[in-house]
Amino acid sequence: MALHLETPLLESRPLSLASGRSVWLKMDALQPPGSFKIRGIGAACEHHARSGKRRFVSSSGGNAGIAVAYAGRRLSIPVSVFVPQTTTERAKSLIRQEGAEVFVHGASWQEANERALEAVDAETAFIHPFDDPLLWAGHATMIDEVVRAGITFDAVVLSVGGGGLLAGVSEGLDRNGLQNVPIIAVETEGAASLVASVKAGKLTELPAITSIATSLGARKVAERAFEITRNRPVDCVVVDDRVAVDACMRFLDDHRVLVEPACGAALAVAYAHADRLARFERVLMIACGGATATLTQLQAWQAS
Ligand SMILES: *Cc1c(COP(=O)(O)O)cnc(C)c1O
Repeated sequence: MALHLETPLLESRPLSLASGRSVWLKMDALQPPGSFKIRGIGAACEHHARSGKRRFVSSSGGNAGIAVAYAGRRLSIPVSVFVPQTTTERAKSLIRQEGAEVFVHGASWQEANERALEAVDAETAFIHPFDDPLLWAGHATMIDEVVRAGITFDAVVLSVGGGGLLAGVSEGLDRNGLQNVPIIAVETEGAASLVASVKAGKLTELPAITSIATSLGARKVAERAFEITRNRPVDCVVVDDRVAVDACMRFLDDHRVLVEPACGAALAVAYAHADRLARFERVLMIACGGATATLTQLQAWQAS
């Protein structure tokens, strides 16, 4: 039994009406740890458990850390998550709620990550939040499920942080004979590391992350994500934070599910940038979720 669930796939009446075409939602917001990340991370953790690892280490104070903690609890393997001082109390408590130990170290992710790597020994598996082929193969199962359900689509909309979701969906499309289906890759302003690399024509690091969509806050995408933009149809879209937060609030009313701005960014393409979907009739949107935002936080962002 995989650690992730097969999630609902539904045709969204509100998003279809808002965008003037048929929009299907893959509801990975409903995974138990709150995001799609458990697909890839669950697969990676199971792989490492089978090969004899006795501890998992993560350096993510976000959904990846929560997913590793969840996987560890399910597999009865202890988990240590190293996070920087900037990590919210809510994120830390979501990780601890799964029984993992949280170590706070350093001002930034780089420092927490260095400390995490020091804690790795022969019996420990380090679980990267996005740059690992084991993760991509696990994320690809979301496309297998859509294809198995018999739903056809002519584009996939998803958000991009470090590009693990992009790499996984690309793999899922390829292994189902859908290599020509375009991917609409969405980032927020201030976290647009994929666009920076595409514009520069080479893998490029942002000087800083300035978006509130912290789950998209990888300063540099995985090499594989950049390669994908060169080898298959990928359209890049950048939305601003406000539009992403508004999309979260509308989605909460429309589908009664609360997601992070990282997910709102992708949904915003239907709500606010439907012009970017002009060539398509049936669009698959990955509702990737995210557990670290609260309604109070979304309202505060909307008011600011
Ligand atoms: C991690 C995450 C993303 C981005 O995924 P990457 O694999 O880093 O590109 C998007 N949305 C949510 C909610 C996430 O947790």
